[in-house]
Amino acid sequence: MTGTNGPIVEARRLSTHFGGESSGLSRFLRPKLPVLRAIDGIDLVIEAGQVVGLVGESGSGKTTLGRTILGLERPTSGEVRFAGENIEKLGTHDLRLLRRRMQMIPQDAAASLSPRLRVSQLLDEVYDIRRTARNARRSPADLLAMVELGPEHANKYPHELSGGQAKRVSIARALAMEPEFIVADEPTSGLDVSAVAAIVNLLVRLRAELNLSYLLITHDLDVVAYMADIIVVMYLGKVAEIGPAEGLADRPLHPYTQSLLDAVTRPGEERRTKLAVRGDIPSPRFPPSGCRFHTRCPFAQPLCREREPALEESGLPGHRTACHFWREIVSGSLPAGC
Ligand code: SF4
Repeated sequence: MTGTNGPIVEARRLSTHFGGESSGLSRFLRPKLPVLRAIDGIDLVIEAGQVVGLVGESGSGKTTLGRTILGLERPTSGEVRFAGENIEKLGTHDLRLLRRRMQMIPQDAAASLSPRLRVSQLLDEVYDIRRTARNARRSPADLLAMVELGPEHANKYPHELSGGQAKRVSIARALAMEPEFIVADEPTSGLDVSAVAAIVNLLVRLRAELNLSYLLITHDLDVVAYMADIIVVMYLGKVAEIGPAEGLADRPLHPYTQSLLDAVTRPGEERRTKLAVRGDIPSPRFPPSGCRFHTRCPFAQPLCREREPALEESGLPGHRTACHFWREIVSGSLPAGC
């Protein structure tokens, strides 16, 4: 299902950079490091009710993008609008109200739960932080029921929970404020196959029942292909490819997307020859010139080192890619390694 009620999140030319400045004594003690360009000029629209899947290797900027959208990181430039409101321009009171409508499921669920608190206290804590009146709170039993945990879990401490149960408590904490939009950061990481399926099904059910929108950050392409309406592929702080989930997974245009899909080819599955992508993702402090993927791309040409490719329409609705040679690559007229 794709959302149709207008955008809930709009990010325009969004950049978040870290460091690059030193002052006082540190100027003499530590050499100045180049700026870390975690995200660099991202445009992204999430429609109400939509699931957008964000994929890419560690270091591609996925979590920073999610945190910047939520206002947890301050953008260096660009803007984020939530339900039409420019977050940067809101006063403290309005920002606090708006933050209730957007929540995060943290990547490391167990580490995000205070080990000294019981589950019921962890759920109440969310309301205490948000200064929510007693009569406006859901009971721990209600919140646990929403994530398919029995009331007996309310008295447990985090170390008494399995990985899947800790994830469910994290999801319950995110649901406490009745949000409209959730950034789910690697919601299935560290879980075994059956727990992954259970969490995915839970998120799908909650989306349908509560009309939630998700930004789903994940390494797991199976999860993203199953849950997302739109897939965004990020590489070194930039969007490499974006498009409707089915079209992008069936017909990837960018060599980086192809390499990610190749990495999950199953035994016996027929797929084109795997791309030989070289080395590791470079540091976002030292992004390569031109196309940032050129140091690893098996199709790289001299132009790729010199000029940054723009996100270009592919001819299919909403499917865009940032590669100078996607047509030649898709048609096979530019072989890998030439
Ligand atoms: Fe590869 Fe060049 Fe396309 Fe970048 S622009 S993905 S280096 S072919």
